[in-house]
Amino acid sequence: MFTCQLCQQETCYIYKYCDTCQNVKRIMNCYGAKEVLAILNRVCLRNTQQQDYKINKELKETFKKSLDKTKENDVDKTDASYETPITRNKKKTNSI
Ligand SMILES: [Zn+2]
Repeated sequence: MFTCQLCQQETCYIYKYCDTCQNVKRIMNCYGAKEVLAILNRVCLRNTQQQDYKINKELKETFKKSLDKTKENDVDKTDASYETPITRNKKKTNSI
């Protein structure tokens, strides 16, 4: 049994690289290994400041999603059939 020479995780019987790594290799053939490495460094590797930006962005998106879910659970008050609930302080009156 052979493992992929690039990712060293997938099993390969015929080729040196697994299907995924063959695609990576094709991209490297097009752009060159140094350019691909530069892109990976620029996109995948982040310093502490960049990590903080990413964390804050993710937290904002998570908060926004939870806020959207809360809004979805709320009754649509713009609907004409919606009747405002009667509260103790604001009793519904049928008088003219
Ligand atoms: Zn691989």
